[in-house]
Formats: sequence, C-alpha cells, structure tokens
Amino acid sequence: MNKFAETTRQIFEGWEEFYKKPTDEKNRFFESDGRLMDIIFAQQFDRPFLDRMSRLGDMIRLLAKTKLGQNHLRHLLPHKRAMLYFSQPSTRTFLSFQNACYMLGLTVSEIRGTTTSSEVKGESQEDTIRTFASYVDMIISRHPEAGFAEKTAWVLNQTDRAIPVINGGSGPDQHPTQALLDIYTLEREFSKSGGLDGKKIAMVGDLKRGRTVRSLSYLMKNYQDVALYFVAPKIYKMKDDITSFLTRHQIPYHETEDFKSIMPLVDAIYMTRIQNEYSEDPSHETETYPAFHFKKEHLENIQAHCVLLHPLPRRYEIDVAVDKDPRAAYWRQERNGMWIRAALIAYLFRVENEIEDVFS
Ligand code: ASP
Ligand code: ASP
Repeated sequence: MNKFAETTRQIFEGWEEFYKKPTDEKNRFFESDGRLMDIIFAQQFDRPFLDRMSRLGDMIRLLAKTKLGQNHLRHLLPHKRAMLYFSQPSTRTFLSFQNACYMLGLTVSEIRGTTTSSEVKGESQEDTIRTFASYVDMIISRHPEAGFAEKTAWVLNQTDRAIPVINGGSGPDQHPTQALLDIYTLEREFSKSGGLDGKKIAMVGDLKRGRTVRSLSYLMKNYQDVALYFVAPKIYKMKDDITSFLTRHQIPYHETEDFKSIMPLVDAIYMTRIQNEYSEDPSHETETYPAFHFKKEHLENIQAHCVLLHPLPRRYEIDVAVDKDPRAAYWRQERNGMWIRAALIAYLFRVENEIEDVFS
C-alpha cells in the first residue's frame, strides 16, 4: 500500500538520555517487583534465571508430549492475549513465539510487515504500539532498528498499560531470546560433560552484524572459565563494545581468520550467516567467504563431543551433508527455541510455579 503521509515524528522527553545510559543502569527500568518484566537485552539474564529457564523449558517439553500435560499448559493463560509485531522478516522466531503462545493457551494477534493502515496514514511508531497495547497483554516485536523494542517498553512503562515487551530481534543489535535458546541448547548438549562452565566456544562468520553472537557473548559472563574464539573475515570482526565487555568481565577471547586451526580446540562451534540485509547495497555483497564455511570433511577435525550450532537460516555456512552427524545440533537448537520461549512467557505472566509444581 502506498503511504499517504510521512511517518509522524514525536519527541519523547528523556528518551535520548535514557538510551545513552549503560545497560546496567537501564535494567531496573524493565523490571517490576524484582522480576524481569520486559525482555530487551541479553544482559538482563543472570545465572539463576538462565538455570531456572532451562529447567522450566525441560518441564514444558515433557508436559507437551502428553495430552494431559498439554492440557495443563493450555489452561495456564487462556485469559491473556499477545501481539506479534514483526516488521522485519522472520520465520523461526515468529513461529516459535506463536507456537509457544498457543501451547500456553494465549490468544495471538499478528502484524507482519509495516503497512498497518495507521502507518500508511502517517501515525508514529510509538502511537501504533500504544494502540496494540490497548488490545493485548504482551507485545513481542521484531524490528530492523536497534533500540526499537527498548523504546517501546520505555514508552509503555510510563503509561497505565505497562504490559511486557519482548525483543524478538532489534536490527543488528540484540536478539536476547535467541541467546536464551542458545544457552539452553548448549546446556542440554553438554549435559553429559559438565554443562557450559569451562567450555571453549568458537563463533564464526559475520560477528560484526550478527546480533545472535553479540547477545550470546554477553551471556558468557554468567559462566565460569569459558573461553571464546572469534573467527571472522577482517571486515566482519566482533565489535569493540563486545570485546571490551569481555575484557571487563575477564572472559578470555581470541580472534583469528584461520578457522581450521581452531576446529580441534573447541567444544562448540557457532556458525553464522553473512548478514547482507544490513549492507548499504546488498547486491554488491555477493561474497560468501568459503574460508568460514563448515564442510563435511571438517567433521574429522573437530572433537568427538563438539557441538555444531547455527541460529538459521543458513546459506552455505554448513554443508547439508553435515546434518546427519550427531554433533550437528542446529535443528535441535531451532526446536529448543519454542520450549524456552514458552518458559519465558510463563515466567512473565507469573505462572511458572504452576508448571514447576507438577514436578515437585
Ligand atoms: N532470522 C529470522 C529468524 O530467526 C529469519 C528466519 O528465521 O527465517 O526468525
Ligand atoms: N535468525 C537469526 C537472526 O534473526 C540469525 C540470522 O538471521 O542470520 O538474527
């Protein structure tokens, strides 16, 4: 649909100052009664929270297997409504949130793409969000701009409809629920080898614009003796904000362009796609960087327990022939997203005890 008017720009007093603050200072604003209320940054998650979510994810997975268990889950939140507002393309994140909501009995409305009638008429993004909040009890948003979910939560928290906001991906910045599902996957895959503590993890590909590896790096502060290996072409190196965070938290990291040299050293390899959508001119960015692809023959170079991850969608980063190897965990990782997002939603609506009680 053509736009009839330019998007209205509204000035929100205090937003610019808030946005510039360090994350640690902002976190409190996204909490209520000492609990997380909006999920905006991966830095909001601490170890007890991550451990609890992983346990809750396992419980939901088990319950959902039986009619009786699924029935229990579906009766937890039938009185709540969620809005999925996805103005940036998504398959996985959208479907996993949608199915997580269904599993808990929530009613879901969705908008995919930005051409809501009001936006065509020039309504500001903030007014559009306030409108959503009038009808639902939670907003899950994915947006191409960094800071969008944060501003949404910041605006709503100052109104009398302060409903939870979940960041389902904010441009090249963060993807906290992906980081949550990545941690859940790593903990499950390492369940027989002592968990994530003490492990060496390689992140490979577009580390500069890949929000998943950025969010996951932040979460490493919660684990003991973890070491990171950043493997990227020079132009897509991990940015300084992450490396200085790691230095501040005394998490060792190594940077290299030589993928093969680190393959035998690490316990997990997290592959990522070149994020062309953030190029000034994506048609010029055709290079796929084969030196940063994982090929079938590389299976011989990695350890017997090494876990292969990818947030998906993939292009050429991992040969399809690798999928059959038991160390290829990315399809399990994808499915884990649904369980852990259901766990998070149950927590946000404070019904996690009703799940935990079944197992106590
Ligand atoms: N990166 C998006 C997502 O995680 C797109 C996709 O999955 O296809 O949802
Ligand atoms: N699905 C992930 C994301 O939304 C990774 C990707 O798109 O490459 O960020």
